[in-house]
Amino acid sequence: MSKVLVIGAGGVGSVAVHKMAMNTDIFSHITLASRRLVSCEKVAESVKARTGVTIDVAQVDADDIDATVALIEQVQPRLVVNLALPYQDLNIMEACLRTKTDYLDTANYEPRDTAKFEYSWQWNLHERFKEAGVTALLGSGFDPGVTSVFASYIKKHLLDRIDTLDILDCNGGDHGQHFATNFNPEINIREVTAPSRHWANGEWVEGPALSHKQAFDFDQVGEKNMYLMYHEELESLAKFYPEIKRIRFWMTFGDAYLKHLEVLQNVGMTRIDPVIYNGQEIIPLQFLKAVLPEPSSLGSTTKGKTNIGDIATGEKDGQTKTVYVYQICDHEDAYAETGNQAVSYTTGVPAMIGATMLLTGAWKGADGEGGVFNMEQFDPDPFMDMLNQHGLPWQVKELDAPLAF
Ligand code: NDP
Repeated sequence: MSKVLVIGAGGVGSVAVHKMAMNTDIFSHITLASRRLVSCEKVAESVKARTGVTIDVAQVDADDIDATVALIEQVQPRLVVNLALPYQDLNIMEACLRTKTDYLDTANYEPRDTAKFEYSWQWNLHERFKEAGVTALLGSGFDPGVTSVFASYIKKHLLDRIDTLDILDCNGGDHGQHFATNFNPEINIREVTAPSRHWANGEWVEGPALSHKQAFDFDQVGEKNMYLMYHEELESLAKFYPEIKRIRFWMTFGDAYLKHLEVLQNVGMTRIDPVIYNGQEIIPLQFLKAVLPEPSSLGSTTKGKTNIGDIATGEKDGQTKTVYVYQICDHEDAYAETGNQAVSYTTGVPAMIGATMLLTGAWKGADGEGGVFNMEQFDPDPFMDMLNQHGLPWQVKELDAPLAF
């Protein structure tokens, strides 16, 4: 039985808190805090209506480290779940160090003025977390998150050696809007417009954004075009599984989404440097975010399924083998259960499961020591079991041959 403080009341925070409220044997007391109290109140109302559980709400601007420390000291949680990344200049991690509280997030930190994310800033805090005797679990969403746990599961149970790993992220959902993003538009657009990057034979190979397209037939979704992209888990997988010769990440996008994005880019609306408008400094991408539909508002209209998984080729008992571990999530089912579409659902559920891993001690550093950890550093089995029990059942398929591309 543990107290938890969740910071960030977007779609992911909403799902995480709903799922925690459905597991009160682990999460005995939940506080949800965000920059705007009204965001938390909306989630709290839905949690009460759907589960009967009352959660506490609080207002905090996590850009203010002293305010964050004060809130943690007031709530006294065992764990802070940061679902308000990517900025806050690592303040929430710092606040956890100051108050000796465990930490979890679902994405990695990136600087405000460069469209670039990497784990170095968070990994640099490892010794300080270890000294403080507290644990930080990084990237406990779906991708990053479950995709790394799938890789560990493949290595533990399905292949003796992994040679190549491809992560395939397909959102076959349709929200009925001309253009909208399924999570924070600012992050989504920064991610999609960044150069592609994959790991091959010990080094990073870069290419222009969205220049490498491949069609793939996704179970229960159908054939979609997917594009080679850089993504957070490539960095941690390359570090923790040095045996893997090639690691790639693919994401599906529809033609209409890409056409809108191209136009927005061409007219300068995706810029992240300040411009002066009516005597005021504005960041075009932040302005664009303000006029686009809020991702959390898309839930009621989104239909279709997501299908995300890992395809690995390697060796098993001396034979070459290709396996595919994947999970399919239905947007309408996710909405019926939590009031949020599947992209938030597939991220919020693993956040709840990662939190359970830390709170129950199922995942901890060697000899119980603290530190900063990624998902692939721990035993995948208890996490995989919980995915099956809490709404994200997965499946394993053996493929006849390695991917042809
Ligand atoms: P949203 O942008 O919809 O929500 C973020 C929430 O955080 C909002 O409620 C916002 O505040 C709050 N917030 C932002 N900045 C601050 C701050 N300085 N202080 C306090 N609260 C703040 O994001 P999502 O819910 O879609 O995603 C949450 C996280 O999950 C993001 O980091 C995202 O990158 C990550 N993600 C990870 C995925 C994965 O598979 N690993 C997939 C999808 C998302 P308010 O509403 O109060 O103004």
